[in-house]
Amino acid sequence: MALENSKFLFERSLARIPGGVNSPVRAFGAVGGTPVFFREGRGAKVIDVDGREYIDYVLSWGPLILGHADAQVVDAVQRTAARGLSFGAPTELELEMAELLTASLPSLEQVRLVSSGTEAVMSALRLARGFTGRDVIVKFEGCYHGHSDFLLVKAGSGALTFGNPTSAGVPADIVAKTVVLEYNNPAHLEELFARHGSTIAAVVLEPVAGNMNFVKPTLEFHQVLRRLCTQHGAVLVFDEVMTGYRVAAEGAQGLFGITPDLTTLGKVIGGGLPVGAFGGRRDIMAKLAPLGPVYQAGTLSGNPVAVSAGLATLKRVLAPGFFDRLGATSAKLVAGLEKEARDAGIAFSTASLGGMFGFFFRSAAPRTFAEAMDSDREAFKRFFHAMLDRGVYLAPSAFEAGFVSSAHGEAELAATLSAARAAFAEIRS
Ligand code: PMP
Repeated sequence: MALENSKFLFERSLARIPGGVNSPVRAFGAVGGTPVFFREGRGAKVIDVDGREYIDYVLSWGPLILGHADAQVVDAVQRTAARGLSFGAPTELELEMAELLTASLPSLEQVRLVSSGTEAVMSALRLARGFTGRDVIVKFEGCYHGHSDFLLVKAGSGALTFGNPTSAGVPADIVAKTVVLEYNNPAHLEELFARHGSTIAAVVLEPVAGNMNFVKPTLEFHQVLRRLCTQHGAVLVFDEVMTGYRVAAEGAQGLFGITPDLTTLGKVIGGGLPVGAFGGRRDIMAKLAPLGPVYQAGTLSGNPVAVSAGLATLKRVLAPGFFDRLGATSAKLVAGLEKEARDAGIAFSTASLGGMFGFFFRSAAPRTFAEAMDSDREAFKRFFHAMLDRGVYLAPSAFEAGFVSSAHGEAELAATLSAARAAFAEIRS
């Protein structure tokens, strides 16, 4: 496939930007080939610098739930920008955002805005440590919570091992207080809390995992988590950076009927501009500066232009019926993909929730990190390129979730499934 301009720009980028990209997964390392440079997006579609059009299932890794360049979002951004880009002082827009977030997620009594998901989780966990006076953070294998040092930990072999850093530049001491357990495994949680319950400051998780492809939790896992955190006085942190306003208007917490103590948000709440947030119980939030001893701050926190994009997005997302339509789109997409794979005789499975989905080159949808890893990566790689050639842009890694927007309609689904039919046939041969 001719990607002349993308190739040219990538060559230039390699000289001045490490790996040619400003975030690693954009480099196509897992699938090979040249990353596509985009010049424009409209609704469900993106156009690359060579003038080729694609149906986009990445949507900037989740934020663009209304599709690209939505007219109302762009208008809100332009109007706000014309009145000043930033003040570093309170604005009414931030208050409006805080009121909207707390009204739609009942577990949020108070909320503070930041500028990325990484910052939201880092701040929430500092707060949890400050509130409890304890140090240990529990996370789950395959869950990503941004690139704060102490969260860049992969699991050791045993279930209860203390972590080893995943990245160079992270001292072992920094991750020594981070414990990694298996996702969807309540027995491991019970065992850890029985042994170390009084030292655990917080348990953080993606309530639906979207960073090891797409892994649904069991209700039992969530219920055991909530019970153990309450019993032992640990703070339960739902990282809803990806799932918030993406799987349901009430978040994963509302879907599963679990009330976390703190929640982190990002992606959709910024509508494509940098906004993150963390919030929850008032008694915990009261420990934050300037009220309390836990420091947290940001020059551009609550930036009015970014918040305007988020507000314009959230108002539409919170309208009745939005998630019924979005959920139907994802369900139809994955059902169609499964049928095409079955017709081609390829081992394949899928899952979806709201506007998020996953597909796997294995016969059953995974429940754990180990199962997610156990899929046919070579088949994924070939499928990715076969789809790209046919104008469908999927995440360039087998371990990322996919996203649909309200701009994905019947025509886009039909075109995607017809591309998939041809792609499955190609990779089988
Ligand atoms: N938490 C989760 C669940 C995420 O998916 C991500 C990003 N993919 C982050 C945190 C980090 O967010 P950001 O990239 O905005 O820093």
